[in-house]
Amino acid sequence: MKARIVTLPGDGVGPEVTAAAVAVLEAVAGHYGHDFAFAEHPIGGCAIDATGEPLPAATLEACQRADAVLLGAVGGPKWSDPNAPVRPEQGLLALRAGLGVYANLRPLAVHPALAALSPLKTEKLRGVDVLFVRELTGGAYFGAKTRGADAATDECKYTVAEIERVARRAFELARGRRRHVTSVDKANVLETSRLWRSTIARVAADYPDVGLEHQLVDSMAMLLLTQPSRYDVVVTENLFGDILTDEAAALAGSLGLLPSASLGEGSHGLYEPIHGSAPDIAGQGVANPVGAILSAALLLRHSLGLEAEAQAVEAAVAQVLEHGPRSRDLGGNAGTAAVLDAVRIALEDHA
Ligand code: ATP
Ligand code: MG
Repeated sequence: MKARIVTLPGDGVGPEVTAAAVAVLEAVAGHYGHDFAFAEHPIGGCAIDATGEPLPAATLEACQRADAVLLGAVGGPKWSDPNAPVRPEQGLLALRAGLGVYANLRPLAVHPALAALSPLKTEKLRGVDVLFVRELTGGAYFGAKTRGADAATDECKYTVAEIERVARRAFELARGRRRHVTSVDKANVLETSRLWRSTIARVAADYPDVGLEHQLVDSMAMLLLTQPSRYDVVVTENLFGDILTDEAAALAGSLGLLPSASLGEGSHGLYEPIHGSAPDIAGQGVANPVGAILSAALLLRHSLGLEAEAQAVEAAVAQVLEHGPRSRDLGGNAGTAAVLDAVRIALEDHA
């Protein structure tokens, strides 16, 4: 198949890990006879330096026209002055809005060979395979805000339409997995959560083949640590999702391992590792490229519909995590290039 992929390497380690992900996609194209065309555009701090804007109009237009977008990371100490008129992170928020992505997917799998790096005991981690679906456009982050000398407010608002569309995504995704959805809210206290719960329950009626369970967010924070292998798809609102996915990321052992996808209607998607620009190691060739490479696998799956190719990349990564080489964050001493080469070689066995 033919696909147009825009790459936004961004700042810090972004260019290093994005280059590795592109190399893997090129290897996939070679093995399976696909024709992927890549076009690189600036975003974040490097875009501010070049154009004065964190998301130049040409970058957004290219992303809107593309079949999928692969992002590295944005930001860094050079652009972190809180009083600066523009900041790199604004580029990312504007990009999400411009692409209309509303469901943020974060798969969490704990590789058995890496269990020692996790704060949880190995037996607790067995079989952990969770897909978080975080609502990305509503809630307290986007509600009206006020700040006076003695008080401040953040309005938390959700519409039925916003809840419904992310709920449908979650149920659809559960059908391709173990057919179970856990919806997380705070329905004992919050009106938005009561609307969330009733809307999820109504959508669930259209998916009788998928099990549904409701959890309160405080219980869920505990259950993720005590019984992480119990969960399949976890769907929740913006703020709860932000917090729970960082908690979950800690279980995997390293930030450098985890991918994410942000999806809107249809197959349009934005794919990025969950880690930031890691300025402390940028430019040294030591960043772990696995989060970016697994993000490329999600791109193959969700935007291009290439499930076999996505699984081949995931199997190649799993093989490298098991046998090495490993990057420094995983206790090894391999650089980005050595990990990439190992993934490419492993891909020959799985493609
Ligand atoms: P941001 O604010 O952009 O999200 P952050 O403050 O959350 O960034 P990161 O930039 O993700 O932090 O870095 C956190 C720590 O994790 C740093 O010590 C960094 O070196 C390490 N780290 C992040 N990504 C990787 C990676 N791909 N490989 C190895 N180490 C990484
Ligand atoms: Mg961060």
